[in-house]
Amino acid sequence: MTPAPLHWDEETDVIVVGYGYAGATAAMTAQEAGAQVLLLEKAPEAHKGGNSRVSANIVFWPADAETAKVYFRSMAGPYMDDISDELLDVWATEMFANKAWLEGLGMTPVEMPYVEFPELAGSDCVRVLLNGEGPVGGERLWRLVEAAVEARHVPISYDTPAVSLVMEERRIVGVIAERRGKRVAIRARRGVVLTCGGFENNPAMIRNYVDGLPRVHPVGTPYNTGDGIRMGLEVGADLWHMSNVSGPILSFKAPDIPVAQWLNLPHGQSFVFVGADGSRFTMEGEPCSVGDAHGKVKRHGHWGRQAMPLPIHMIFDETYRKHGPIGKAGADWDVSHGNLYDWSDDNLREVGKGWIKTAGTLRQLAKLIDLPPAALEHTISRFNESARNGADPDWGRKPQTLGAIEAGPFYAMELTPALVNTQGGPRRNAQAQIVGTDGSAIDRLFSAGEHGSIYSFLYQGGGNIAECFAFGRVAGRNAALCGSAAGAARA
Ligand SMILES: Cc1cc2nc3c(=O)[nH]c(=O)nc-3n(C[C@H](O)[C@H](O)[C@H](O)COP(=O)(O)OP(=O)(O)OC[C@H]3O[C@@H](n4cnc5c(N)ncnc54)[C@H](O)[C@@H]3O)c2cc1C
Repeated sequence: MTPAPLHWDEETDVIVVGYGYAGATAAMTAQEAGAQVLLLEKAPEAHKGGNSRVSANIVFWPADAETAKVYFRSMAGPYMDDISDELLDVWATEMFANKAWLEGLGMTPVEMPYVEFPELAGSDCVRVLLNGEGPVGGERLWRLVEAAVEARHVPISYDTPAVSLVMEERRIVGVIAERRGKRVAIRARRGVVLTCGGFENNPAMIRNYVDGLPRVHPVGTPYNTGDGIRMGLEVGADLWHMSNVSGPILSFKAPDIPVAQWLNLPHGQSFVFVGADGSRFTMEGEPCSVGDAHGKVKRHGHWGRQAMPLPIHMIFDETYRKHGPIGKAGADWDVSHGNLYDWSDDNLREVGKGWIKTAGTLRQLAKLIDLPPAALEHTISRFNESARNGADPDWGRKPQTLGAIEAGPFYAMELTPALVNTQGGPRRNAQAQIVGTDGSAIDRLFSAGEHGSIYSFLYQGGGNIAECFAFGRVAGRNAALCGSAAGAARA
């Protein structure tokens, strides 16, 4: 936290920190409400858009706000106590309002089936929307929102990370940012909105707040490093939902690419994942590489995070190797930024690079990757028996996905746990204000998006983007009101 400087370099009404869907929505809404706005973005223009741009671009839209609240409560389960009825009302109402708002921007909503927890009460409200026909991802929604921001001439300062908030008598009055190596003091006459994402690319924060992930990489933007969490802590913000992450998803991390890449596993059958002791530890497969539900699995009747017994290897045979590329998958940061690595169709280039190890026998392969050979042989022999029987009694993998690993040579590829995004950050109230450790709102400081998301436990796909629009509007509207007569009346 920085005390108010004697000299401001620039000034505006509302500063929005971070240009993804949440920042775009907050900035456009504040501007429409009559405020002068400045969007600060840490990334260079070529890398704009954060996780929003590279996401699958699907939006959870509840067809009915009351049922949406039931579904939310079922997903939050025992992690509901810090979400007030007022906050839940705003979430449900604004989530419902999203469809009309997006149509106003020019979206053509096309529904796709994707109810993540059909067994939970309220799940019949779930609709998942894409912008127009076509595959998930592909930036169609991002381009629509980006065009709306451009049409409104919202000023954006790229390559300009916010580094601290300026506080004067418990009120946020500006931001210190860095632009071209220089510190700039920017005054916010009405308010600051933090929309600078999560901490998925801050390994120290991940180790500190998320149990069981000593090594992790993002599949989204590398620029979300928890800056807003640090800035929030400096001004007394309370934190919530820090341990709730979307992931881990098993992925591959190439040495020279800053983020991990999804695996592409819809083809072939003769592969398994094994942990440090050479045993299987999950049902391998689509869509999240391990299980489903954004990295959560149900064990012994209880939902929890998928365990990651590192190092984890994918073991496969020659038949699987020939089936198709293992690493050329759908939407992620790498794909959106020019396919930084083009995976070979037969996986042989990656064998040549040493990313995939190979040996004539399983015993030799185990020695190459430092696993107990007898344990690996036992695991594969048991899996092959399951494949022959057409049933996987250990982890319940679907019969049609089972294939014996028997055609040498054999292969091993080390996998990395990767995060789609984190949900934690500064606690937010129904007005999208950031709340301090004393329970009161920090004056003129707002947030939206995955920076302190409302999701505390189970997560319905499409919910993050929808929350960006929902709370982006609330934050933008309320920040624009600060200092006005209407704002004073509301306060
Ligand atoms: C591969 C992938 C697929 C996904 N698919 C979906 C999906 O289909 N549906 C869904 O709902 N969710 C999805 N998610 C999650 C969702 O995309 C994100 O949670 C959401 O887009 C976050 O939006 P945001 O605006 O809060 O943050 P972001 O879009 O990440 O934007 C944050 C911005 O803040 C910037 N920033 C960071 N620090 C600073 C700083 N100090 N100063 C200034 N700027 C800063 C970053 O550079 C970034 O541009 C996906 C995520 C990934 C990675």
